[in-house]
Amino acid sequence: MTTIVYTTTGSVRGTCGHKHRSIRTAYKCVLRDHRGCVSQGGYSDRHVTAIEDVTWALAHVSMRELDADEESTLVALMCD
Ligand SMILES: [Zn+2]
Repeated sequence: MTTIVYTTTGSVRGTCGHKHRSIRTAYKCVLRDHRGCVSQGGYSDRHVTAIEDVTWALAHVSMRELDADEESTLVALMCD
């Protein structure tokens, strides 16, 4: 089970490292990065991209509902 989250990435600027829950906040993040770069005379090549995120999806499931495999996956992700 996965959930779609949004992040921003560019080959030069790299990723913002966030997992935005909505595309709106991801765009705001891109805009902020663009403005920051422009103010320093450059530009940002970041764009919004949707990713599947298993961490968020599992976090929505109570631990009681997880089987042993899912629980160990979740623990591994949280400790990463
Ligand atoms: Zn971001």
